Amino acid sequence: MLKKEIEKIMKATGELAHSKIKRITQEKHGGLQLMPPKKDVCQECATKHKPNEPHNQESLYYQMQFQIKHGRFPTWEDAMAHCDEKTKVIWREELKGSE
Ligand SMILES: [Zn+2]
Repeated sequence: MLKKEIEKIMKATGELAHSKIKRITQEKHGGLQLMPPKKDVCQECATKHKPNEPHNQESLYYQMQFQIKHGRFPTWEDAMAHCDEKTKVIWREELKGSE
């Protein structure tokens, strides 16, 4: 009898823990919160670069933020969308060389 009671409690607790974990996971996924970057770095990609330079496409912070905003993974074209044409040309050449 006692064993049965314990089993019942264990089962209930287990389910409770499971639903709690599930809820936390959902909360984390749904309201994905990113730690804001330091003040002296770019607020978009959390990397130190000049305003006319592309964001760091390899920055995890940038990738996460972009993913949340646009629902897809950023490319280098996205990372340098804010740059002027001259800078874009230079960077495209630069990236070609690194491939
Ligand atoms: Zn940036």
